[in-house]
Amino acid sequence: MTETLRGVGVSHGVAIGQVRHMGTAVLEPPAQQTPTEEAPREQARARQAVGAVAADLQARGNLAGGEAQAVLEAQALMALDPELMADVERRIAVGSTAARAVYDAFAAYRALLANAGEYLAGRVADLDDVRNRIVARLMGVPMPGVPDSDEPYVLFARDLAPADTALLDPTLVLGFVTEEGGPTSHSAILARALGVPAVVAMPGATDMAEGVVVAVDGSTGEVLVRPSEEKQAELRRVAAERKAALSASTGPGQTSDGHKVPLLANIGGPADVPAAVEAGAEGIGLFRTEFLFLDDSKQAPSEDAQVEAYRKVLEAFPEGRVVVRVLDAGADKPLDFLTPADEPNPALGVRGLRSLLEHPEVLQAQLRALARAAADLPVYLEVMAPMVADRIDAKAFADACREAGLAAKFGAMVEIPSAALRARSILQEVEFLSLGTNDLAQYAFAADRQVGAVARLQDPWQPALLDLIALSAEAAKANGKSCGVCGEAAADPVLACVLTGLGVTSLSMGAASIPYVRATLAKYTLAQCARAAAAARATDTADEARAAANQVLSGE
Ligand code: PEP
Ligand code: MG
Repeated sequence: MTETLRGVGVSHGVAIGQVRHMGTAVLEPPAQQTPTEEAPREQARARQAVGAVAADLQARGNLAGGEAQAVLEAQALMALDPELMADVERRIAVGSTAARAVYDAFAAYRALLANAGEYLAGRVADLDDVRNRIVARLMGVPMPGVPDSDEPYVLFARDLAPADTALLDPTLVLGFVTEEGGPTSHSAILARALGVPAVVAMPGATDMAEGVVVAVDGSTGEVLVRPSEEKQAELRRVAAERKAALSASTGPGQTSDGHKVPLLANIGGPADVPAAVEAGAEGIGLFRTEFLFLDDSKQAPSEDAQVEAYRKVLEAFPEGRVVVRVLDAGADKPLDFLTPADEPNPALGVRGLRSLLEHPEVLQAQLRALARAAADLPVYLEVMAPMVADRIDAKAFADACREAGLAAKFGAMVEIPSAALRARSILQEVEFLSLGTNDLAQYAFAADRQVGAVARLQDPWQPALLDLIALSAEAAKANGKSCGVCGEAAADPVLACVLTGLGVTSLSMGAASIPYVRATLAKYTLAQCARAAAAARATDTADEARAAANQVLSGE
């Protein structure tokens, strides 16, 4: 029988496929004693598991090629280290199970590495991954990380960090369902970037049986468990119809009476550019540069490597606009070379612009790399800083841009309520504002973006968030400057109309949402958008705001 579960739909479309779980971190194997006569059998099991994991890592390396191959081969060598194996066998001989012996032997080796200087200490995470794989194999539990599968699947997880998803193969992942996370969590953002349907904050996601067929509707937030053949066919038909209707809408973003609102794409690197071009993005409104460096964040990227990555993006938008955000490290996107390891509350700590001001050499290298990448291209480059709190921050960033000789406009993201409240003073230092509504909601409501239980407070329709957006847009207008939205609020088609009505001058979103927003915006006049915005702000809750705006727009 079909069962219907509900979460928060965060990325449009329907995915139908089998459930595969993201392997979680391996638990510590129990420290039970085994009889000595079992030792030879346990030792053989340990050798077999180590050999299989090393062979698997080697095979994945061959498939991946490039830098990934070097890392995976180094991991295979770690697994096969003869001294480590000898230690495992010694521990089994005195009564450990194979899983426990591997766990303890790796812990001892890990301590040695961690104390052996910066380079080796940086390999500790790779060693932990090897250990987790061997222990998982010995305990018969799923391998940690992204599932190994040749068949397409729907990925279920507690939550997905950007580093987990960097390795996802979009041809295999049909959709995402997570137990945690809200509409602005990075799971949601990544799902939109991949263009796959996704539902977050769904209670019970981690308990769903592996292999069961589900249908995920990323628009409604519904997850049907074991849908009938007829239901599957119906869902596919509706999804195809929606898609066809959308592809009929083309051209620049504008209201029905011709008020232009450029529709831009949010990207994490050159790999996201083709989807942005295909969706008809008029440029890039948020290039999250830190996404380029999440999988190897031990050291700062070289200036040359950065030039190469930036150039690939800038070249894709000749004459177009590209807004690059300087590294936004910290909290759920830690970069080892910028992020302090021991903060009690990383979301309120030295993150975003704060860490760049503590490491001015990293900021300067990035700004120089951007200047070099744009040097002879006809692109319209803008650079902005994440997590600007006040005028002092804004001035420090503007000074850094001037010092780097960057021929670009420089702006500030409004992600902290103080920046929205005092947007006027920040605008004395920078040339534009860009509203990061994900963090703005997180900080306005004291509601962690990654925690499913507070997803309600992350709803971008919250009237208090709309007030903060209005304050920023009004301040920008008064100063003759632009104020875009690049948070996930821009990806909701009706909210995009409300944002336009609040005076926002451009909307940037995951490429997959652009056709939806373009088609909806084209239905209403600017005056209707302004009325919908006023009606939404006059309410007290997100649901009321949504209903009020829809009522105005539908002419009821
Ligand atoms: C935001 O906070 O709204 C934003 C666009 O930045 P990020 O989602 O990368 O934190
Ligand atoms: Mg942010």
